[in-house]
Amino acid sequence: MLGAMQDWTMRVTHVIDHAAREAPDREIVTRWADGSETRTNWAGIRTDALKMAQALQALGLKKGDKVASLAMNHSRHLVSWYGVAGMGGVLHTVNPRLFEDQLEYIVNHAEDRVMIYDAAFQPIVDKMRDRWKTVQHYICFDSGEHTTSFEDWIGEQSGDFQWVEGDERDPCMICYTSGTTGNPKGVQYEHRSTVLHALAGLQPSTFNFSASSVMLPVVPMFHAASWGLPYAGAMAGIKFVFSAVNDPSVLHEMMLKEGVTDSAGVPTVWLAHFQYCDAEGIDLPPLKAATIGGSAAPRFMIERLMKNGTRVQHAWGMTETSPIGTVGGPTHDWDQLSFEEKVLKTMKQGRPIFGVELRTIDLDDPTKVLPRDGETSGALQIRGPWVVKRYFKAEEDAVTEDGWFDTGDVGMLHPDGTLQLTDRTKDVIKSGGEWISSVELENAAVGHPGVAEAACIGMYHPKWDERPVLFVVKKEGQDVTAEQVVNFLSDKIAKWWLPDAVEFVDDIPHTATGKISKKDLRDRFADYKLE
Ligand code: ADP
Repeated sequence: MLGAMQDWTMRVTHVIDHAAREAPDREIVTRWADGSETRTNWAGIRTDALKMAQALQALGLKKGDKVASLAMNHSRHLVSWYGVAGMGGVLHTVNPRLFEDQLEYIVNHAEDRVMIYDAAFQPIVDKMRDRWKTVQHYICFDSGEHTTSFEDWIGEQSGDFQWVEGDERDPCMICYTSGTTGNPKGVQYEHRSTVLHALAGLQPSTFNFSASSVMLPVVPMFHAASWGLPYAGAMAGIKFVFSAVNDPSVLHEMMLKEGVTDSAGVPTVWLAHFQYCDAEGIDLPPLKAATIGGSAAPRFMIERLMKNGTRVQHAWGMTETSPIGTVGGPTHDWDQLSFEEKVLKTMKQGRPIFGVELRTIDLDDPTKVLPRDGETSGALQIRGPWVVKRYFKAEEDAVTEDGWFDTGDVGMLHPDGTLQLTDRTKDVIKSGGEWISSVELENAAVGHPGVAEAACIGMYHPKWDERPVLFVVKKEGQDVTAEQVVNFLSDKIAKWWLPDAVEFVDDIPHTATGKISKKDLRDRFADYKLE
């Protein structure tokens, strides 16, 4: 016999209902691309989401239909998260930085029926319109010159609407991986997985939100659901500050002006902020917490933020994991640790939050689960209620027979559960049968004062199979030699890890989510030969 508690389907509409009821006046501020600012609040977001759900139905959309957004971070984009889900639809947050072929593929693959976009992306829409076969309606988040504007469109509705009910396992959002190999793959987040993931995001060991938090997420709403922040933030009733432009001067100004306490972004974003502050000769913003994820946070970044009094939450995850897997919050013995120990701890990727299970598997023997000894690296696998089971429209599950998803990352687990990522499976360098972590090498290299960015890839070597080659972008106005870089690295990594060559380049290619694209770098240097 079952227990006798109430039915309460875990749907994201509960999240916005809660925010509007319990934190109705908490503000949502947006700085728009044209420099103007608007302010709404959680009650306003809900009212607009109801109108949007009604407007979608008026267009003839039905439960399960997909609506695409091509947009930066702002309050109207937030409205669409809840409006689409409230209509029973599925929001497809499209990354505008994808290449045309990928943009074509994912919109057609998802079968998006409506496309809502920022005026800044009008050129993309103009170019793609004929190639997007399923899109019937175009709406512009700003006041579009030729297209219906979002405000006018929802403005025609009364907002007298009941959220569409359904199963908590219904999808509410679809995100595509950026497809570094093959076509992008769609991950469908469910109402239930989203609510559970957001609850986990609230924990003190994750985002540590309270009612007084003021969050400026730099991580885009199209990048793995902005790490779930718009849901977790609604649950806690926090104030959000959005910027539709990623210019560090604007972000900095908004942080100071709006009393921002928390922010989140990939390392490149933090790097740009440091460079801006240095060029202007000003202090970093007085943030309480900074979440860094998407790629490894380098040591100098962690150190600098910590010295600024900012708690660094180094997080690991991926689109397939909604995305939070591990977060590095302060451990129980934090106050007893020296500054150096805190930095070393934070350089690792943190510990799994409740709901996530991790294991590592021998790279050469997939039947062997490795010990959590902090020494042995292996293929990282994950399971939990917000981890992908099957990609959208795939014919087979994406998990092992015993239900684990292989992340494509290589790492080790420490006895206390801390995850230390070594590399991606396809990026680790195998030299004479031993593994070299390209990531560790890069992170050590960017600590050199003359190095702006560094990327390491394995190059064919007749004796060792592969040897590391380091590609370096110099900081402006700095003159640094290959020998100096190698000398700098020599006491930071094992001797046999030292790169066989250091090549200076003007730029390093990046993916659509701002990470170093090793694939493009490899393509660029396909003819490279080690002496
Ligand atoms: P993409 O494959 O498009 O970059 P994701 O944003 O989902 O998509 O990237 C997930 C990957 O990013 C992870 O598998 C991992 O390799 C890397 N990653 C994420 N967070 C970290 C981190 N804190 N340290 C190192 N690598 C990370």
